[in-house]
Amino acid sequence: MPVYISSRNRENSCTSHEAVIQGLAADGGLYTPASIDSCIDVKDLIHASYQETAMAVLQAMCSDYSHEELHACVYGAYDTKFDTDEIVPVTATRDGWMMELWHGPTSAFKDIALTILPRLLTAAYRKENRNDLVSILTATSGDTGKAALSGFADVPHTAITVFYPEIGVSAIQKMQMRTSRGNNVKVIAVRGNFDDCQRMVKEAVSSAKVKNACHGVTISSANSINAGRLIPQITYYFYAYAQLVKRGAVRCGDPVSFCVPTGNFGDILAGYLAKLLGLPVHKLICASNSNHVLTDFFETGTYSLDREFITTISPSMDILISSNLERLLFMLSGNDDAFVRKCMADLQEKGSYSIPRDMLEEMQKTFAGAWADEDACRREIRRMYEEEGIVIDPHTSVAFCGLKQYRKASGDDTPCIVLSTASPYKFSKDVLASLGAEETDDDFAAMEKLHELSGMPVPKGLAELKELPLRFHEVIDIEDGMKTIAKRMEELSHD
Ligand SMILES: *Cc1c(COP(=O)(O)O)cnc(C)c1O
Repeated sequence: MPVYISSRNRENSCTSHEAVIQGLAADGGLYTPASIDSCIDVKDLIHASYQETAMAVLQAMCSDYSHEELHACVYGAYDTKFDTDEIVPVTATRDGWMMELWHGPTSAFKDIALTILPRLLTAAYRKENRNDLVSILTATSGDTGKAALSGFADVPHTAITVFYPEIGVSAIQKMQMRTSRGNNVKVIAVRGNFDDCQRMVKEAVSSAKVKNACHGVTISSANSINAGRLIPQITYYFYAYAQLVKRGAVRCGDPVSFCVPTGNFGDILAGYLAKLLGLPVHKLICASNSNHVLTDFFETGTYSLDREFITTISPSMDILISSNLERLLFMLSGNDDAFVRKCMADLQEKGSYSIPRDMLEEMQKTFAGAWADEDACRREIRRMYEEEGIVIDPHTSVAFCGLKQYRKASGDDTPCIVLSTASPYKFSKDVLASLGAEETDDDFAAMEKLHELSGMPVPKGLAELKELPLRFHEVIDIEDGMKTIAKRMEELSHD
C-alpha cells in the first residue's frame, strides 16, 4: 500500500485517505507517495474506458480504499456531467495530439480531479466514522475555484470557501464563481494576486487564531497541494497514451512525450507519477507564459522570485510560487526532507533557492521548460484556426508554442500529446481578439460570435451564466486574511 509522507518531515506519514482529509500536512509540507513502483501495464488498458483506466490508477495509488468505494467514486464522478462519453477525447492536430480536458461541468481540466475529490473525501470520512465538518479552503487563479465550488456544492459534512485575486481572473471566471449554487459555499475576492491567496490558505492551516475559531471543524484543501487532486490526474496520461496505440499512431511501449501548460505544477507532476507507474513517457515539456519562473528553473537549477508578476491572457498560469514543485524536489532528492525544508526556507527568506548540479541533470532527463509571450500565444491561436480550423484557448496555445520551441531547440520529434486545459469559450474575448475578429466588450456577445466562427457548441454551464444572480460580493485586503478565515470558521462551528 503506498504510504504518503510529508515533504517537510518524512516521519509524518499517512494513508491516502488520511492525506485526502488533511490536504496540507500540519508541518506545511505536501503529502507525497514515499515510493512508487512501476505497476500499471498500459498494455492492459488499451481498450479500457476512461472509468476503467481511473480504477486501475486509483487502485494503485489509494489501495486503502476498497474496490467498492473507488468504484462508487469513479463512476459517480465521470458520468453525464461530462458532455462526452469519452470524458477526455484525444484529437489530431498537425503538431501533435491534443487531449481535451475541458468537457466537464466548468469547462476546465480542474473538473477531472474536482468531480472526484469530494467523493474521495466523503468516503474517507465514512471510513473514519467522523462527525466533524470538513472546511475546504481554496485559493484560485481562476479555474480551481469554480470547479471546486461545483464539486463540493451541498456535499454533506463539507463547506467550501474560495479566495480569488480581484484583478487577474477573467470576467467569465469571476461570474462563474460569484453565481455558484449551494448552501455550503462562499466566495471572497482578495486585493492581491494568486500567490497572495495561496499563501493565505497555507498560513491558515497553522494559524493559532484560525485554529481557536474551529470547533468541530477540520480545515482541508481542494488545491493541488491535496494528494486527492493529484492522483486522479494521472489517469488521463494513461488514457491518452492508450488512444494513440488504439489508433495505430504508436506501438505499445514506444515513448511518447507530453506538453503541459503549467502553473502550480500539479498537472505535469501527475504525468511524472504516470511515468513512475510504468507509462512510457519520454519528455514532459513544461510550458509557461510570461511568468516563466519554471522555464528558468529547468534551465539553470535556480528558482528565483526576483521578477515581476505579469497578468496575462492565460490567467490560470499566472503563478510565481509553484507549489507542487516541492513534491518533485522531495522525490528526486530521495525523500530528503531536510533538503526540501532548506529550499523552502530560502525561497521564503531570500526569494530563491538552487538545487545541486546532479539533481538538475536528473530532472532534465525527463523535464524540459519552454515559454511563450502574449504575442506568440495570440499568433498561435490565430494560426491554428486559420490553418487547421481548430479554436484553442490561451493556455492550450501556450502549450503548442512551448512544444514548437522545444522541438526547434532539441531536434527531438518524439510523438507528443498536448494537454488542452480549458474550453476557448472560457476566454471568449481574448480568443476572438487573437483571431482578429471584431471585438466586443460583452462576454456573452463574444461567446456567440465565437460560436459562429467555430461551430462548437457553447458549454451549458457558461451559456446559463447570464441568467444567474450574483450571490457573492465580499472583497478583502491580504492583511485581513486570517481574520476573515477565523470568522468563517466560527460561523461554520455554530451551524
Ligand atoms: C490550472 C490550470 C493550468 C495549470 O495547471 P497546474 O496544475 O496548476 O500546473 C493550466 N491551464 C488551465 C486552463 C488551468 O485551469
